[in-house]
Amino acid sequence: MVLFVTGVCHRTCWYCPLSSERKGKDLTFANEWLIESPEEAIEVAHRMSALGTGVTGGEPLARPERVISYCSRLKEEFGPEHQIHLYTGIALDREMLNRLAGIVDEIRLHPPEEVWDTILTSDYVASAVNAKEMGFDIGFEVPALPDVGVLGQALPVLDFLNINELEWGGHNADGMRERSYALEDGLHNAIEGAREWASLISKEEKVHFCSSSFKDSVQLRKRLIRIARNTARSFDHVTRDGTIIYGNLVPHEKDREWLKRLKTGSFEDQGDHVELSWRVLRSSAETLSGESCIIERYPDRGIIVEVTPI
Ligand code: SF4
Repeated sequence: MVLFVTGVCHRTCWYCPLSSERKGKDLTFANEWLIESPEEAIEVAHRMSALGTGVTGGEPLARPERVISYCSRLKEEFGPEHQIHLYTGIALDREMLNRLAGIVDEIRLHPPEEVWDTILTSDYVASAVNAKEMGFDIGFEVPALPDVGVLGQALPVLDFLNINELEWGGHNADGMRERSYALEDGLHNAIEGAREWASLISKEEKVHFCSSSFKDSVQLRKRLIRIARNTARSFDHVTRDGTIIYGNLVPHEKDREWLKRLKTGSFEDQGDHVELSWRVLRSSAETLSGESCIIERYPDRGIIVEVTPI
């Protein structure tokens, strides 16, 4: 599960990938669900059989009490084997590390680009050394900027270095244009050249390069499939991409007789419309008077991807 603790962040990285719906807003999301309490996060985690949680933001530790209460509750509910990693742009001191011990397993520090050249004498390496001593898995997570290779000097004190392909977004478009960066293709948000900037250092065993297409397709797809498996109704068709497909009928009075002949549980009456197997609806659509269509959407009442009238 992805736990987005808050959109608030003290930094102003020009490449920040946050969308305007989240940036600067003090809102919490579990996956794409807006939530207000750890209990709601637990519900979302159950619905997808989450094995672990990635805590992110904004700057999650702009709201430390929130991070602590959510992480403690997740560990309490799912046990120590529920892996929790925390992304943060703050070089954590021993006091904060102590507060996170036992409820966070892995810390992903995001040092600002300004300190990359002098990373070995920065607070970030000092923080990584302390975190390692205290038993955390510790690494850096940074975007693939042209000078990302200089972070190689910190590898001996890190467990990993995650490099995310630089991505074009609404908020960073001006910064991208100022630097004359261009999109790699018309399909993804990846920036041309970002893969090469990371290519030399990516050969190191501790370095993981996460491409924009991997994040978009593989990670998202896996998450959707887990949610769909847990939440699909008996008549929902789960696709290989983790979306669900069902039929949608706005019944006229005379269609009610037809609906009565369907088995209990093979449809769901939503008041103004009925949801049922798309195959059953399609095979009977000609005999029905109400408006029918086939809906494909993300599971658990997620966004609608496609509506096909029958
Ligand atoms: S630290 Fe992360 S959330 Fe904050 S401005 Fe930079 S990229 Fe955005």
